[in-house]
Amino acid sequence: MPLIALCPGDGIGPEVTSEAVKILKAIDEKHSFGFEFEDAPVGGTAYDEFGHPLPDKSLEIAQKADAVFLGAVGGPKWEPLDISVRPEKALLGLRSAMDLYANFRPAKLFSPLIDASTLKREVVEGVDLLVIRELTGGIYFGEPRGVEDFEGGKRGFNTLVYTTPEIERIARVAFEAAIKRDKRVCSVDKANVLECTELWREVVIEVHKDYPQVELSHMYVDNATMQLIRNPKQFDVIVTTNMFGDILSDAAAMLTGSLGMLPSASLNGKKGMYEPVHGSAPDIAGEGIANPLASILSVAMMLTYSFDNPQAGAEIENAVAKVLDKGYRSADIYSDGTQKVSTSEMGDLVVKELS
Ligand code: NAD
Repeated sequence: MPLIALCPGDGIGPEVTSEAVKILKAIDEKHSFGFEFEDAPVGGTAYDEFGHPLPDKSLEIAQKADAVFLGAVGGPKWEPLDISVRPEKALLGLRSAMDLYANFRPAKLFSPLIDASTLKREVVEGVDLLVIRELTGGIYFGEPRGVEDFEGGKRGFNTLVYTTPEIERIARVAFEAAIKRDKRVCSVDKANVLECTELWREVVIEVHKDYPQVELSHMYVDNATMQLIRNPKQFDVIVTTNMFGDILSDAAAMLTGSLGMLPSASLNGKKGMYEPVHGSAPDIAGEGIANPLASILSVAMMLTYSFDNPQAGAEIENAVAKVLDKGYRSADIYSDGTQKVSTSEMGDLVVKELS
């Protein structure tokens, strides 16, 4: 039986996690996955109860699970804590313990929400792209790093480093993901200036030989940033380094406008952690008004990438699209002429469309 670890976390985390579970149960009824669930407390609430934001027991459950769903962690209550036990440590702990080296951030525009984007309708209408960011290597982890005294001042330095196996595995992830989409990968680097990304390009070209059905292109990161804003529809899958991906995925996410709509996945092969991009939203926690769609769309990603069933993932995305088409909105995406619904009503509406 596939096991899903549930890490609701803090603030609106438990509220949106309940809706994610509702969807998982509904899709299970249709497709008979046989899901089992186990709670794995994380974040500030776990600190309050167990003295650590990532208790050993929770880590154990996450590691043995086939997939992890995480709501959100953090909040003002825990800000005074020492950095080593802040709620956010749970995220980093899970990522490194599970070696989640591939971060998936899709940017898909649901047409009823087109006016939420700051870009022109004709630029963003139909956008559906996926940024795959290498998450455990590159300049954020390279050694040596630091700040040292230097000729009467200081000198700060970081190291951009990638090995062939690190590049190979993320390239494979990108090609595999593209096969389930429009079969196009754009690898973003700065091969004209940085030797490390020259190697990146060489390795991606080599790995591509195993995926002849996928079209591969390359772009320098400065041009890619411009193209992402100028004509985002040209992209299907973008694969890039940790730092370039950090920047490009935020820019891509904002093409669609709304924080409450953005899902994400961090993967190591089929194992993965799925979470909405937003945080714990302490300002609206407990009010039952949070938008659960980012979480629900994260569940769609879970079915596609951890349970190898893109069809079930697409069913969830279609159900979300239908609910939006019918004019239902949570408070964050509400506009005149639409109907405002609560967090749980939104979950129920998606379940209804699914069945
Ligand atoms: P946030 O994403 O929690 O909230 C930003 C704004 O967006 C708020 O006004 C909030 O009400 C709104 N918002 C966010 N998600 C929403 C949703 N689903 N529906 C409706 N409105 C939504 O970011 P923040 O305020 O900068 O951070 C709050 C806490 O969350 C901090 O402790 C931060 O460290 C933590 N955080 C956690 C994660 C995570 O768990 N992955 C990510 C980002 C921030």
